[in-house]
Amino acid sequence: MTRSISILGATGSIGDSTLDLIRSQPGQWRVVALSANCSAEKLARLAVEFSADVAVVGNEQCLPELRQHLSGSGIAAAGGAQALCEAAARPADITVAAIVGCAGLAPTMAAIGQGRTVALANKEALVSAGEVMTRLVAQHGTTLLPVDSEHNAIFQCLQGGNVEDVRWITLTASGGPFRTKSQAELEAATPAQAVAHPNWDMGAKISVDSATMMNKGLEFIEAFHLFPVGLDRLRIIVHPQSVIHSMVEYRDGSTLAQLGPSDMRVPIASTLAWPQRMDTCCKPLDLAAIGELTFFAPDEERFPATKLAREAAHAGGAAPAVLNAANEVAVAAFLAGQIRFTQISAIVARTLDSYAPVAPGDLDAVLAVDAEARVRAAEMMENA
Ligand code: NDP
Ligand code: MG
Repeated sequence: MTRSISILGATGSIGDSTLDLIRSQPGQWRVVALSANCSAEKLARLAVEFSADVAVVGNEQCLPELRQHLSGSGIAAAGGAQALCEAAARPADITVAAIVGCAGLAPTMAAIGQGRTVALANKEALVSAGEVMTRLVAQHGTTLLPVDSEHNAIFQCLQGGNVEDVRWITLTASGGPFRTKSQAELEAATPAQAVAHPNWDMGAKISVDSATMMNKGLEFIEAFHLFPVGLDRLRIIVHPQSVIHSMVEYRDGSTLAQLGPSDMRVPIASTLAWPQRMDTCCKPLDLAAIGELTFFAPDEERFPATKLAREAAHAGGAAPAVLNAANEVAVAAFLAGQIRFTQISAIVARTLDSYAPVAPGDLDAVLAVDAEARVRAAEMMENA
């Protein structure tokens, strides 16, 4: 049976992994929409390879280039924020939401509005929108499947269990490339060092988030919205080998864990095939070769981001959206060489401290909070 799929953020790291799996099942998928921001040539190449119905660039200025690469192909080309949402709303059995940042929020909401299945990688969208997104999911009866490896692990560990019986959900964190670095070394850390993750090959933004541990902070908030156990039952443990992707401990003392290679094709495959399973060509887990699994408590002195995220989660309302927006601005500035690594969390903290917008009640209000927090974070950087 052929199933239809759209991939938002098709040209990124998650997009690559998803399309690799689709490629491995010829004849089983029909590709509806593929999107990028401005990687027009790559997007056109993928759209032709997978015979997509439509290819969309979020940045309208890149549309002429996309059109040029698609000319004669019969594939529709579109550009701009509105077009992205329209493409996301086109009926597809499953939509993979893999745009990076809050830029993916509106299209992800459009995909949720179909009432079908959304495989969510774009954690920033859920962190920013929180209940606004989960409410839409409930309203439309949409199936929201987590792609993020930790949340996918938790989702799997919860199969057959009851949320009321959960004592702890433990998110594992690799600790990133700077896990063992001193404060002085963190001050001097460069973008090239920050994006060189020891276990995972990912886009630049999430790689920096892993280095600051903000990725785990965002994931803490993501877990809060996906699994209704309450904030007090969520915790984080550093596990440098990234073999255990997360764990669920039940009240009888049983802990279930999901293990796998550090390859995003494993959790993506579990969402594509859910509730069945599919083959992947991922290297099998060789525990004898790995030898040791180790665990450490997070160090929130050197890596304050998880503490900031936990506080934002407890504060609720607009705080997670502010945290996320300030982080996006600070990470972009760090990658552009404008601020030091340790300033990322400092700017997020100062932005959160500087004001408290009211809790957003709908998508437009979330986007307004996001926009204002970006302006304020940029001001913080000027005064830094
Ligand atoms: P990448 O940077 O590799 O890819 C991002 C994708 O989003 C690209 O297709 C990019 O297009 C598109 N994009 C970027 N900005 C915009 C915009 N303003 N409007 C529309 N499209 C845009 O990111 P990743 O694939 O690494 O991550 C994607 C999401 O998945 C993130 O939220 C991340 O946190 C999450 N995730 C990623 C994991 C990983 O292993 N990579 C693991 C778990 C979660 P273009 O190519 O044109 O720039
Ligand atoms: Mg993750």
